[in-house]
Amino acid sequence: MQQSAKQIYKRLLKYTFDYKLVAILSIVGMLGYAAMDALFIKLMQPFIDEGLTQRNTEVLTWAPLIVIVLVLGRGIFNYMASYCLSYVGSQVVRKLRQQLFEHMLFLPVSFHDQHSNGDMISKITFDTEQVQQAITRALQVMIREGAFVVFLLVVMFDASWQLSSIFLVIIPVVALIVNVVSKRFRKISKNIQDAMGEVTRGSEQMLAGHKVIHGFEGQDKEIGRFAQVNNHNRQQRVKMDATRALSVSVIQILAASAMALILAIIAMPSMIDTITSGTFVALLSSMMMMLRPLKQLANVNGELQRGIAAAQSIFEILDTPQEKDTGTLELPFCAGEIEVKSVTFCYPTKQEPVIRDLSLHIKPGERVALVGRSGSGKSTLSNLLPRFYDIEMGKILLDGKPIQDYKLKELRRQFSVVSQQVVLFNDTIANNISYGLDVPLTEQQLIEVAKQAHVWEFVESLPEGLNTLVGENGVMLSGGQRQRIAIARAIVKNAPILILDEATSALDTESERLIQDALDSLMADKTSIVIAHRLSTIEKSDRIYVLEQGQIVEQGTHQQLLASEGIYAALCKMQHGA
Ligand code: ATP
Ligand code: MG
Repeated sequence: MQQSAKQIYKRLLKYTFDYKLVAILSIVGMLGYAAMDALFIKLMQPFIDEGLTQRNTEVLTWAPLIVIVLVLGRGIFNYMASYCLSYVGSQVVRKLRQQLFEHMLFLPVSFHDQHSNGDMISKITFDTEQVQQAITRALQVMIREGAFVVFLLVVMFDASWQLSSIFLVIIPVVALIVNVVSKRFRKISKNIQDAMGEVTRGSEQMLAGHKVIHGFEGQDKEIGRFAQVNNHNRQQRVKMDATRALSVSVIQILAASAMALILAIIAMPSMIDTITSGTFVALLSSMMMMLRPLKQLANVNGELQRGIAAAQSIFEILDTPQEKDTGTLELPFCAGEIEVKSVTFCYPTKQEPVIRDLSLHIKPGERVALVGRSGSGKSTLSNLLPRFYDIEMGKILLDGKPIQDYKLKELRRQFSVVSQQVVLFNDTIANNISYGLDVPLTEQQLIEVAKQAHVWEFVESLPEGLNTLVGENGVMLSGGQRQRIAIARAIVKNAPILILDEATSALDTESERLIQDALDSLMADKTSIVIAHRLSTIEKSDRIYVLEQGQIVEQGTHQQLLASEGIYAALCKMQHGA
């Protein structure tokens, strides 16, 4: 749902409420600053009329002192306004950024499937920055220069209200221009943000995929694509600046025309005697002085609209519902009974279901295996158990109760998952292994686990040992080494249910056999679900399910399935080369 600009102003304003006092101080500072400037012009009138024209020396001796006082006050107010404003602005942005980060963390997996990382990063970095600028720059100009314009109008009206009224005629016209231009500004700003998202997305893809790009000579393609995105971004900026320049000029021409009209009237013979020199100077300087703030006000509109558009894109994410976590049941340690009852599941992005009317029952402590062709839905099924995706048709029960009834945190605590794509953090091996533990492992425990998962083999010889950094997503390790760290992480978590999705696929046969022993002892008292293409690793399972297009087509022990001579038996034969 798109929010109107007014709603966004209000919502942004709410963020400043926590810093009310500082905000008020900064507003006071800005008003004071503008008042000092306006007062300066106002005082010209008595200086000229009483001091110069009437040769009043007392007034003239006060003049230098007043100038010093005004400039001093102006400086103090300016410092106060700038400091407080910067404080509030930076606090608001810090809060927005933190909220965005936290909110994204709890968005469902399906959301992240559909949104690129580049776009999301750009929201956290670029869009929040735009809001900061809008808040500080725009507020400063709007309040300070706005007040200055108002004070100048007061000075003008005080000097001669009849003449000054002419000036007011242009206000509705200016308002109309500002209104029209604002809409355009906001639209262009939205485009700039999207373009910025594309820039980050393009850069991210180039950085993440640079090896593939080199391998497939994709440089020219990537360069071309980026040039296009980059130029699109530039075009939008030019559009923005052009609109701004045009609106500023039109507003200034209007103001100057009003000024010319007033001068023409003053020059009329009937008028010329009614005005003193002081009034004339005050009037003229007010009008001249007004051109600069008017320009700034018209200019800042662009900045403001940019901030509004950015806030809009941030609020859109903040309003996206997080993962449903409505369950209330606690679950300290489950027995591990899993029942899947006629579940049909379709990814939100797809029409065709990936899991179809699938049922299975795993008793506590059983070890089952899922096998089947690539794309048959094995990983999907394993993702449904810890509720990485929510099902709409059918039921999944854990220890006899629907998984939605448990608190999400409690539910996920029951699973140790080694997923098909190993994800490692850019941190040390030790921290990757003990990720998710509240109390860090002792050196001795770490080495113990490292030995179990055969991580120790390659860590031992490293100069930094377990404190070696693995690089982004573990690039400094081999595929098999990464998998072993993932297994160590699962061992450390020691959850009652173990899900191994091709956990040893990257290992050589010998390492696989060694790790298999470690996994066997780990699985001894746990419910486990093993997904594997290499069938030799799952022969000992209590039950093997064969999946095809999201359905179970065969089930039984290794021996039973061999005897029935179905798909499984055929697969086995193929792998054994018999
Ligand atoms: P493999 O043995 O290759 O790992 P799999 O049996 O684990 O295959 P799944 O990963 O469960 O297969 O995928 C099943 C189907 O769901 C595939 O057709 C795939 O295209 C689709 N799919 C997987 N993940 C997503 C996703 N995040 N969004 C949409 N569709 C998906
Ligand atoms: Mg898979």
